[in-house]
Amino acid sequence: MIVYEFKVKGKGSQYNAIDEAIRTSQFIQNKCLRYWMDNEKVGKNELNKYCAVLASEFPFADELNSMARQSAAERTWSAIARFYDNCKKKKKGLKGFPKFKKTCRSVEYKTSGWKLSPNRKAINFRDKKHIGTLKLKGTYELNYYDLDQIKRVRIVRRADGYYAQFAIDVKVRVETEPTAQATGIDLGLKFFIADNKGNVEECPKFYRKAERRLNRANRKKSKKFNKSAKPQSNNYRKARNRYARKHLRVSRQRKEYCKRVAYSVIQSNDLIAYEDLNVKGLVRNRHLAKSISDAGWSTFRQWLEYFGFKYGKVTIAVPPYNTSQNCSKCGKKVKKSLSTRTHVCPHCRFVEDRDVNAAMNILKLALSTVGHTGTYAWGDLPN
Ligand SMILES: [Zn+2]
Repeated sequence: MIVYEFKVKGKGSQYNAIDEAIRTSQFIQNKCLRYWMDNEKVGKNELNKYCAVLASEFPFADELNSMARQSAAERTWSAIARFYDNCKKKKKGLKGFPKFKKTCRSVEYKTSGWKLSPNRKAINFRDKKHIGTLKLKGTYELNYYDLDQIKRVRIVRRADGYYAQFAIDVKVRVETEPTAQATGIDLGLKFFIADNKGNVEECPKFYRKAERRLNRANRKKSKKFNKSAKPQSNNYRKARNRYARKHLRVSRQRKEYCKRVAYSVIQSNDLIAYEDLNVKGLVRNRHLAKSISDAGWSTFRQWLEYFGFKYGKVTIAVPPYNTSQNCSKCGKKVKKSLSTRTHVCPHCRFVEDRDVNAAMNILKLALSTVGHTGTYAWGDLPN
């Protein structure tokens, strides 16, 4: 499955129609979650059937294409399934009980309810939400594919406009020459990644660098906020949008960076081992929270597993257990605080950078098959 994204252009009334479709999708997702919570033995099929009930009960739900309704129910189901899975695996900490959605940003259609124009530069949504025809702006070429290869179409709202994503069913596996290299990588705050051969990549810190500009935009937004005004003024909304766009820019930079690093790691190795970090758990440490969120490890990992899948490479996540403490030469534990940058082993006199030593341990762990193979879930998009 590959995904192409286009910016879409339409009239203001069409954007309103998209917002309305997104709201309906969110409504169905929340209703399905409530239905699952209130009834026993509700599975995927029951939720799908429940969509029809909702459509007969609520006219605005009926206006949304029937497969788009199902798609909303499936989204809820995947959140429930993930929760069940975490419970089964006895995952530590919170199990991720599904939550009600408040700020849904997208609506997903499947194979009906839309039609591409003959030259495939525009898409027409034909359900009773009356979104109509939207122009597609982007450099991708949809003409290469058969229409029945397009399995899903998603409309996404962002601070700078609306986008259409096409999930296209093609074999993405690419045959590559073996590199005869295996690597362990350690994700850190000083170095974004350090590998077992001593290669390091500095953290780019996109958020930290943009922080002053972001704060300024945030202050401007707050100044325009009026407690008693409802709705807020246009100037407030504009300032809020400017602020959101600045955030969008930072997250795009981070994504591009993660993608590039993941790609190059995959290209130069056959086996890649990394730590199975619980990023959410780490972010709770408030002293490091900003830096950790800024690093984008989970985005990096998603891309790593995606490219691993695409290029037929092995990706292995190992449990993060003492990888930075143990000596990678003799295996003995050498205690060090977070600020100790160098690993000096009193037992075997092995000296190495702290993160590089950790990377060596990670590779060792992976090769002794302690880890589990990272799997790229079909159709799930890396962000
Ligand atoms: Zn040692």
